[in-house]
Amino acid sequence: MDAPLTTSISDGFWGAVGRTPLIRLRRASAATGCEILGKAEFMNPGGSVKDRAALGILQDAVARGLLVPGRPGTVVEGTAGNTGIGIALAANAMGWRSVIVVPETQAREKLDYLRMIGADLRLVQAKPFSDPGNYVHVSRRIAEETGAVWANQFDNLANAAAHEATTGPEIWDQTGGRIDAFTCACGTGGTLAGVARALKARRRDVRIVLADPGGSGLHDWVKTGTVKAEGGSITEGIGQAARAPGNLAQARDLIDDAVRVLDPEALEQVFDLQLHEGISVGGSAGLNVAAAIRVARDLGPGHTVVTVLCDGAARYQSKLFNPAFLRERGLPVPSWLE
Ligand code: PMP
Repeated sequence: MDAPLTTSISDGFWGAVGRTPLIRLRRASAATGCEILGKAEFMNPGGSVKDRAALGILQDAVARGLLVPGRPGTVVEGTAGNTGIGIALAANAMGWRSVIVVPETQAREKLDYLRMIGADLRLVQAKPFSDPGNYVHVSRRIAEETGAVWANQFDNLANAAAHEATTGPEIWDQTGGRIDAFTCACGTGGTLAGVARALKARRRDVRIVLADPGGSGLHDWVKTGTVKAEGGSITEGIGQAARAPGNLAQARDLIDDAVRVLDPEALEQVFDLQLHEGISVGGSAGLNVAAAIRVARDLGPGHTVVTVLCDGAARYQSKLFNPAFLRERGLPVPSWLE
C-alpha cells in the first residue's frame, strides 16, 4: 500500500511535534548488509529530538495545574540548547515566557537561535555537575527564586514518558515491528529510556544499546554500574561525566549493552551522510549512525537497526564545518571544504 500523501492538519507548534520520517540510510545499510534506519528528529518544528521532551514536560506541567494556556507563566530550563529551543517555542505558542540557561561553550548557532526566538538567554561558564555554578543548578535556583516552573529535563520523568508515548510507538509502526536493535547516545537518557520501554513492551528481545562519546561515563555505567569518564568530545547534548540522570537510570534494566564512539568516527558519518545521501545532521546523529553500524556488525547481515538523527548540521556550522576548528583538534575536515 502506498504511504498516505499527507498527515492531517496539526494544531500549532504543539500539534506539529513528532510523526517524523524513518529514513533508510543507504551507505550504512550497504556496508553492513542490515537495514539501518534513522528517525529524522531534525524535522521537528524546533529542529531537534528535544521538541518531544519539551512538549511532554510542558503538557505534564499543564496537567498538574502549574501552567495554564493563555495565562502568564514562566518556564526555566538548563540545557545544551535544543531543549531550550523546544521549550521557548512551545512556551511562545501558549503565551508563556522562557528563561534558558546554557553553558557558553555550546555552538554559537544555538545561542543565536535562542535569542532570535525570544528566550531570556542566560549564559553561564561550563562547570562540572558538582559545582553549584553548573547550568542545571543555576536553572533550578532561578526557578525557585522566581516561582517559575523548572522543566528539569534530566530528572523529570515526563521527558522519557513523551518518548515512550510517541517516538517508540512511531518506530514500531514504521518498521512494522521488524526491528532487532535500537541504539542512541544519551544526554538526559529520555530518548533511550522511553524508546526502550515502548519497544521492549512490544517485543522483549529488541536489543537496546547505549552509545557514548569520549568524556562521558555512561558507557562504563552500563558495563560496570559506575560512572567513569575519560577524554572528551566536540559533540553537544550527549554524554554525562558525573552521573546517570533520573530519566536514564530508571531504564537501567532495559539496556543490553553500550558502545563508545569517538569524534573521528562520528564525524566521518556526519560528512558521509551530508555528501553522499543529502542528509544534514549534527554530531550526536553522526555518532548514533556510527553506533548503529557497530551494532549491525555485531548482529550480522539481515537485521534491522534503528537510531536517531537528533538535529541538523546547520546548528553546528561554526564547529563541525569549520576547517580551522577541526584542524586545531586533529579531527578530519570535510573534503569539500579543504
Ligand atoms: N543529541 C542532541 C543534539 C541533543 O541536544 C540531545 C539532548 N541534550 C541529545 C542528542 C540526547 O537526547 P536525550 O536527552 O533524550 O538523551
